[in-house]
Amino acid sequence: MVVRIGVIGAGMIGQDHIRRISEVLSGCEVVAVTDVDPAKAREVADARPGITVHATGDEVVADPAVDAVVVTSWGPTHRQYVLASIAAGKQVFCEKPLAESGQDCIDILESEAATGRRSVQVGYMRRYDSAYRALKAVVDAGEIGAPLMVHCVHRNPSVPGHYRKEMMITDTAVHEIDAMRWLLGEEIVSTQVLVPRKNANGVELQDPLILLLTMESGAIVDVEISVNIRYGYDIRGEVVGENGTVSLGEASPVTVRREGRFSGHIPVGWRERFIRAYDTEIQEWVDGVAAGRPPAGPSSWDGYVAAVVSEAGLEALRSGARVDVKLVDKPALYT
Ligand code: NAP
Repeated sequence: MVVRIGVIGAGMIGQDHIRRISEVLSGCEVVAVTDVDPAKAREVADARPGITVHATGDEVVADPAVDAVVVTSWGPTHRQYVLASIAAGKQVFCEKPLAESGQDCIDILESEAATGRRSVQVGYMRRYDSAYRALKAVVDAGEIGAPLMVHCVHRNPSVPGHYRKEMMITDTAVHEIDAMRWLLGEEIVSTQVLVPRKNANGVELQDPLILLLTMESGAIVDVEISVNIRYGYDIRGEVVGENGTVSLGEASPVTVRREGRFSGHIPVGWRERFIRAYDTEIQEWVDGVAAGRPPAGPSSWDGYVAAVVSEAGLEALRSGARVDVKLVDKPALYT
């Protein structure tokens, strides 16, 4: 079966997913697209045969030629299109965030749970990165003993003009928030934010920040978030266990040694660093849809928790205090 996909939102990541579905992955094709800017949707459709342009996301969801939906529009619109997909009985892959607030995510949890079957996957792609998967395999095998601490680094060379200070937590550190819950297999119980000396490159922002996450087990995760560090896009992670440590390797495929120095390549942006993870993420989702399986990737519950922890992180940034994470009871569908 070839999975026929409708894409809502033809911006940067939407166009990238259309390219990967059309050119890189197998067993899938894009058959419909929409964007609030109809000219942008038309341009995308004209570049590839067989794509119908719809006026709205709701039309994409309702199109009988669409088997499954990819939501890549602006964050505040995600809730509406995910709910529409659930109501239409179609699997939906939604780029993060699942919705704008924890409360909005609860609407999705309730709607999906009422169907008795998972149909929503959220785009937290670190879980599909080969280095993160290797890191988790070492932790899960117990090779370093119980994890006690994780040191994370999330550095961006720069951010676009519309980037607001809240996005340090909600858009940037949210990837570590999801990845740490997945890596350690436990929930985050509280957050705290430390504010170091300000980087003059980030005029409008309080950059960098250190986000502290306390896990259910008592393990503590620290996340350095730097978004104007110029030298490259650098993602690091080291788990400290009772008997050893495990770290993400260098992103550079080779190291050059010459003239008394060694050097390697640092990715310029997130797309380059995680391009294979996005391919794996969407391919595994497509394979599940084709086989009629519920999605196995990040769920609505994961999207909900990411939203609630982000909200706690923002409150911690505002207050300077440690803020507890308060979750609703987990519906049985997600256990
Ligand atoms: P973007 O370039 O601004 O793309 C968003 C697109 O959706 C724009 O073309 C926008 O049109 C369109 N849009 C807005 N409202 C819409 C609606 N009601 N119906 C249909 N289209 C609509 O942003 P982006 O960088 O691609 O990000 C899109 C989403 O993906 C965001 O939620 C972002 O957080 C997420 N994302 C995730 C990752 C990841 O690593 N997982 C990476 C990048 C982005 P206008 O430009 O005309 O408003």
